[in-house]
Amino acid sequence: MDFRLTQEQEQFRDSVKKFADKHLAASARERAHAAGYPWDVAKLMAKQGLLGITIPEKDGGQGGTLLDAVIAIETVASVCPRSADVVQAGNFGPIRVLAEYGSADQKQHHLRKLLAGEAVISVGMTEPDAGSAVTDLKTSAKKDGDGWRVSGSKIFTTHSAYADVFLVYVRFGPGVGGIGSVLIEKKDVKLGKASKFMSGEEWAQLYLEDVRVPQANVLLGEGGFKKQIAGFNVERLGNSARSLALGRYAYEAARAWAMERKQFGRLLCEFQGLQWKFADMKMKLDAAQLLLYRAAANADRGLPSPEETAIAKAYCNQAGFDVANESLQVMGGMGYSQESLVEYCLRRCRGWMIAGGSIEILKNRIAEHIFERSFSQRPD
Ligand SMILES: Cc1cc2nc3c(=O)[nH]c(=O)nc-3n(C[C@H](O)[C@H](O)[C@H](O)COP(=O)(O)OP(=O)(O)OC[C@H]3O[C@@H](n4cnc5c(N)ncnc54)[C@H](O)[C@@H]3O)c2cc1C
Repeated sequence: MDFRLTQEQEQFRDSVKKFADKHLAASARERAHAAGYPWDVAKLMAKQGLLGITIPEKDGGQGGTLLDAVIAIETVASVCPRSADVVQAGNFGPIRVLAEYGSADQKQHHLRKLLAGEAVISVGMTEPDAGSAVTDLKTSAKKDGDGWRVSGSKIFTTHSAYADVFLVYVRFGPGVGGIGSVLIEKKDVKLGKASKFMSGEEWAQLYLEDVRVPQANVLLGEGGFKKQIAGFNVERLGNSARSLALGRYAYEAARAWAMERKQFGRLLCEFQGLQWKFADMKMKLDAAQLLLYRAAANADRGLPSPEETAIAKAYCNQAGFDVANESLQVMGGMGYSQESLVEYCLRRCRGWMIAGGSIEILKNRIAEHIFERSFSQRPD
């Protein structure tokens, strides 16, 4: 077993770092607090080959591995935390599900713009009454001639204000087996009142009112839920990678601060009470990184295992938040202020403990793996 990156991976990491230092470093703070989607970054990343890293070359991607994509998101985040969202959108999110399961026509129609950094795709999964219990979703797809009529509503959809297309989970029939997904264009979606998460990210409720969806826009038909979640595990790893990377960003800021800030005539790093915080943070970051790399490396060019993804995400989400929180504490008022991005990292990390499978739901999944049986969460 070798825990080091290969020479190729190191070269790739160095090239991403150079790119990020040149194009992203100067405006990192401003970008973190700006509204909207950083289209300028998306276009630059497209040129640099940072969108579609794991998507096959025949579909316009780079034909790389999931670990390459993880390295890209971590490296970008180490320079500009906000820009890591663009790596996520271009590699880990619904774009990956589209590339994995989409028809040739669907890919041709949507992928080119997504990979050029000219468009973004959102996933509409959560509903007002179906959050963790996502299989309770009610948005229905009813047969209408050679197509479908979709009605329902989605909440918390990230990027909803500027997405070109939505990957919407729908119910074709009863039960888990009746769930699948369709692609719906922006013009067919009604957006509700704009809202914001604590992280500053914008979201709006989606209303789908008897939207006509041609058969050609069905991504996964009835019985597609398992595949959908298998694809979603990639999104979860991107989410894990950002948690870890933003925790690490905060840690590096705090480490630098502790080596230059003096109180009581001594550097902060000379107080044992703070040294132990740093030791704890370092152990959490290293452990999280190993779990994340295990899940990504074992998946290689395929989809990651549900267990390894659940373990990596639950651990990275908790570690990222804990480390960002302790880093903020170490930096005192400066950490709590917008003079640094530490408070931003903390707010972002908090959200990933809920988004894309909360820590509790992931632990349920891990327990099922431990005991080799399923535990229904529903009343008898
Ligand atoms: C930053 C952010 C971005 C998001 N982006 C998107 C997006 O792009 N698209 C999308 O569709 N959705 C998105 N979501 C929604 C997200 O997927 C849901 O918030 C999540 O699935 C939890 O659902 P809920 O908020 O309804 O909480 P609930 O399901 O109501 O859960 C509330 C609490 O109860 C716990 N809980 C629930 N059931 C159990 C159980 N069986 N055992 C133990 N604990 C349990 C949960 O862990 C949570 O702590 C986003 C959310 C956030 C915070």
